[in-house]
Amino acid sequence: MAKSDNAFVRVKNLRKYFRTGTQIPLLKENPPVRAVEKVSFDVIKGETLGVVGESGCGKSTVARLLMQLIKPDAGEIIIDGLAVDQRGGISIRDMRHRMQMVFQDSYATLNPRMPIEESIAFGPISNGKKALEAIQESKEVMDQVGLDPNLYLHRYPHELSGGQRQRVNIARALAMGPEVIILDEAVSALDKSVEAQVLNLLSDLKSELKLTYIFISHDLNVVKYISDKVMVMYLGEVVEYGTVEDVYNSPKHPYTAALLASQPSMDPSRKLKSVPITGDPPNPINPPLGCKFHTRCPMVNDMCRTVNPNLQSTDKVHHRSACHLSSNITVAKTLNAEESLNS
Ligand code: SF4
Repeated sequence: MAKSDNAFVRVKNLRKYFRTGTQIPLLKENPPVRAVEKVSFDVIKGETLGVVGESGCGKSTVARLLMQLIKPDAGEIIIDGLAVDQRGGISIRDMRHRMQMVFQDSYATLNPRMPIEESIAFGPISNGKKALEAIQESKEVMDQVGLDPNLYLHRYPHELSGGQRQRVNIARALAMGPEVIILDEAVSALDKSVEAQVLNLLSDLKSELKLTYIFISHDLNVVKYISDKVMVMYLGEVVEYGTVEDVYNSPKHPYTAALLASQPSMDPSRKLKSVPITGDPPNPINPPLGCKFHTRCPMVNDMCRTVNPNLQSTDKVHHRSACHLSSNITVAKTLNAEESLNS
């Protein structure tokens, strides 16, 4: 993968297999779930990388691997030029100072017995900050996320709405003074109006505090709104990476094109005549040979069934696709075309 020199987060060939109890006849060992394979990408300082894909494509596993909540089997994670947990690199503890994560379930991530003030101050206090100082700072970060400390400081999580709880979770992340925040489906459980408010808050915080985001979501519209670059994943692999403009306007991978074509149109006179993508993703315990998308790809050819394409540059330097046909622009455009009812 072509390198960006100002990458703040760099991931090289990340791999994670999970052992299972599933037995496949004639095989001696239980095969693993191939959750993440040969995943490489860069996140540029001050940018937002959106990560999209169907459920089970490995996007949340990548987030957990980045935070070292689970150990990668192979690969390298480099933060600001320092390899994580390697000699001469950055320790996991220091990495977690610089990189924080916000999860989808705003309630499960808060201690129900702790008032908001203590929840926000907990991280800094655990990392050696004096309690009084941490409490004072928790008031400041509450202000930053749009929650009046005088009203909410002493409340418990069950006394807040979903949107307010997610603001508290963002405040908890900010209290650690991070440079990168990973948002794993952080707005997916919110009502649309609240989702828009939280997205605007995230945009404001990003410019005010010069943050870098990794924004994971299954919602292509939300990712388009908030991201600078997009990474599309399928069955544990990156299949396309590029700027929002390039990927959304000129997808080079048939899977990306199908995802985009599956989005409902705002124009009732335009409807799809055929379903752009059918079937379920293959079992990650026993993925198909060759291109992992070949069992569902309308453009499949003989080579696709035997050779797994690497992620490679297309006609634009920072636009990459893992498809043997990615140079054939019309393929993707055809798939992405909406068909008019009147045509
Ligand atoms: Fe489809 Fe072949 Fe491209 Fe895979 S490599 S996405 S099967 S055309």
